[in-house]
Amino acid sequence: MANAKRILITGGSGFLGSHLCERLLEAGNDVLCVDNYFTGRKENIRHLLGHPRFEVLRHDVTFPLYVEVDEIYNLACPASPIHYQHDPVQTTKTSVHGAINMLGLAKRIKAKILQASTSEVYGDPAMHPQQEGYWGNVNPIGPRACYDEGKRCAETLFFDYHRQHRLRIKVARIFNTYGPRMAVDDGRVVSNFIVQALRGEDITVYGKGDQTRSFCYVDDLVEGLIRLMEHTPDDFTGPVNLGNPREFTILELAEKVVARLGSSSTIVHKPLPQDDPMQRRPDIALARTAFAWEPKVLLEDGLGPTIDYFKKVLGL
Ligand code: NAD
Ligand code: UDP
Ligand code: UDP
Repeated sequence: MANAKRILITGGSGFLGSHLCERLLEAGNDVLCVDNYFTGRKENIRHLLGHPRFEVLRHDVTFPLYVEVDEIYNLACPASPIHYQHDPVQTTKTSVHGAINMLGLAKRIKAKILQASTSEVYGDPAMHPQQEGYWGNVNPIGPRACYDEGKRCAETLFFDYHRQHRLRIKVARIFNTYGPRMAVDDGRVVSNFIVQALRGEDITVYGKGDQTRSFCYVDDLVEGLIRLMEHTPDDFTGPVNLGNPREFTILELAEKVVARLGSSSTIVHKPLPQDDPMQRRPDIALARTAFAWEPKVLLEDGLGPTIDYFKKVLGL
């Protein structure tokens, strides 16, 4: 393959990472998946294991890594609040030490490197919808800070390595993404609601459910990451928002899932977690103009394959 590259994906056994491994393999590349299996699972990549251009390494990115590749996608980090708050010190270490190690690696081997950043860098945003120029509203000492500030510091490190060592960097600010291979116990809202509705359990809406999120289907998101890495000039660094600009209240999502499944579940309200952002919707003008990306899959369409996946996993 003429344009085949050696590509490292950290967090490659997770939800997004496993889809990215698959897509980059299909495109003819050599893929090295690195993961410590904290929230990722071998099941997510089992179907790729026999592939001649696929390799897997159990490794924690807070430790140095010496490999030779052309590109690095740095996705390693738990993404669900229940998981990243389980061991918050490790979460910060993963983002910060992980970024330093992967940037040090990229510097030594002159690889291009992409950081999976997050809409959480905007915190509970005072600007709506969120544009990349907005600096955010993050509580630095709250329970979400290990994730938010870890990711903010990782962005800082990416831009300092870029300025100081001329590294080719790409920073994607990913908004809420859903789809097959989210873990059943992931705790994020789309997987929780679908699993609860399938089991006929109560649907747990935190707070009044008037907080909003914008949900992007995984295939769209992965396409955006690859375009950012492959179809932008070296001096295009981002940060760039990747997400679906259609915004829903959490109550609307709950109602959609219940109606879609004809479920007997009832909606119950639980306390709103501390520092839970009230609203979130990406402004994606930059991604549109810089690499002609916009999401194609409507929530109504993306829920289908996601529900099918959870039915299979739950044996229904
Ligand atoms: P995920 O939890 O399914 O995947 C994260 C992966 O990283 C897992 O496989 C986990 O085992 C691995 N990991 C965690 N700590 C590690 C460490 N120290 N060393 C090596 N591997 C480690 O979550 P995801 O939804 O696939 O998220 C992937 C990335 O995208 C994360 O960096 C996350 O912050 C970012 N992101 C995701 C979303 C989303 O909605 N899915 C939104 C914003 C940002
Ligand atoms: N590093 C790594 N793989 C490499 C090169 C470096 O994991 O191939 C790590 C190493 O742990 C180092 C970090 O990246 O501490 C930062 O590297 P850099 O060269 O920027 O800084 P220094 O080595 O001077 O601390
Ligand atoms: N949420 C909810 N019920 C759940 C899980 C989450 O109402 O069972 C809410 C949560 O309070 C938040 C939104 O759904 O307002 C999105 O939560 P998620 O953990 O998926 O992502 P994040 O808060 O990081 O955007």
